[in-house]
Amino acid sequence: MPSEKTIVLATRNTGKIAELSAMLAGTGITVMGLCDFPHIGDIPETGATFAENARIKALAVAQATGLTAVADDSGLCVDALAGAPGVLSARYSGLHATDAENNVKLLAALKDVPPEKRTARFACAMAAATPDGRLIETQGFWEGAIAVILQGHGGFGYDPLFLDPETGRTAAQLTPEEKNARSHRGRALAQMVPLLRNVPRG
Ligand code: IMP
Repeated sequence: MPSEKTIVLATRNTGKIAELSAMLAGTGITVMGLCDFPHIGDIPETGATFAENARIKALAVAQATGLTAVADDSGLCVDALAGAPGVLSARYSGLHATDAENNVKLLAALKDVPPEKRTARFACAMAAATPDGRLIETQGFWEGAIAVILQGHGGFGYDPLFLDPETGRTAAQLTPEEKNARSHRGRALAQMVPLLRNVPRG
């Protein structure tokens, strides 16, 4: 039963729910996920920016649940591709693209691009919305470069191709703790957590 101190994360991704729950431990705030609200269908990501998509999802879920809702939208922006795949990261090689297909397409698109020009960043926009429409927004970035071959088996998405300059490893070669400490989502979430403590919940 949701209490006054419950927030709902606008995702069915149990990994993201576990991440936010861990960061809110000790605050007395309980985290629920969209899996707890099966009547809420998929919310179309129709925005032109990560921030817009995060806002759309947070506002829709806050209204549908009557609870404060937190949503994030993220993706990979490659400089040599003018910021692509960007908001289309999940669908880069087609509507139901797999991570493997997206990585193959990215490698092909960068085939003639030398290492020094393969700079890229992961971006994450996060939004918290109250049922009456108030919004708090944060963002996080992770600067890196695109490798020439896939390396590592951890993480998801473009992780095996995303080189972290500090460690010289791909995101897929980092432990979840190492990744969360430097990732776009970890950074956006770290800024959001103290703000959530002060949000009047609906
Ligand atoms: P979403 O924000 O969960 O919708 O993620 C959008 C897409 O961006 C994912 O399907 C991945 O392709 C890519 N992406 C976002 N964050 C990451 C990450 O941390 N590692 C690898 N790929 C990511």
